Amino acid sequence: MHVLNAKVIFTIGIVLWFIIRIPYQREQQSNNIVNELQSTEDRIIRFFVIAGILFIPLIYILSPWLNFANYYLPIWVNGLGVVTFVVSLWLFWRAHDDLGKNWSPTLQIREGHTLTTNGVYRSIRHPMYTSVLLLGIAQALLLPNWLAGLAGLVSFSIAYATRIDQEEQMLLEQFGDDYSAYKKNTKRLFPHLF
Ligand code: SAH
Repeated sequence: MHVLNAKVIFTIGIVLWFIIRIPYQREQQSNNIVNELQSTEDRIIRFFVIAGILFIPLIYILSPWLNFANYYLPIWVNGLGVVTFVVSLWLFWRAHDDLGKNWSPTLQIREGHTLTTNGVYRSIRHPMYTSVLLLGIAQALLLPNWLAGLAGLVSFSIAYATRIDQEEQMLLEQFGDDYSAYKKNTKRLFPHLF
């Protein structure tokens, strides 16, 4: 695939990613916060992820500054990237829809927070993070540049490692035995295949 086409496809995907979130962002703003965990640290982590999936790729797409780190990717790899991006967008949308009013961008418990165990949450506990991981993989398969291609995966890995235990601990404190039982029946990012 011509590099320009891959850049355009990646840009469209990222725009769709942000559009998917708009209605849910509006909904959660009207929902009161009951408990919030280390919001400053969490906001820094969020900024880091946005830099990895948006700012660094944008610098690569719009300027020649990162061209020293370019390499070649065959078209079938780009094709895999498109498929991965579509799956990521679908999962991102489903996870927002299934979480509904329980969703928030940082680690929070909302008024009337319930434990979501249905839809894509039936078999995995963190489908939204799975969708960000898939987005990072799609980015690496679409953008043939060591920095812009891998920035999403690097920032996701750091964010995931710093957030996941805190999030599960917060939910365990909030939902007790219900969350323990839910944990036993599910995996974190990818479902049991057999
Ligand atoms: N980690 C989840 C959700 C990310 S959004 C995922 O990847 O799909 C983060 C917010 O979702 C946190 O503030 C937490 O309170 C809430 N949350 C996470 N899992 C939840 C669940 N199963 N039910 C209800 N709320 C949940």
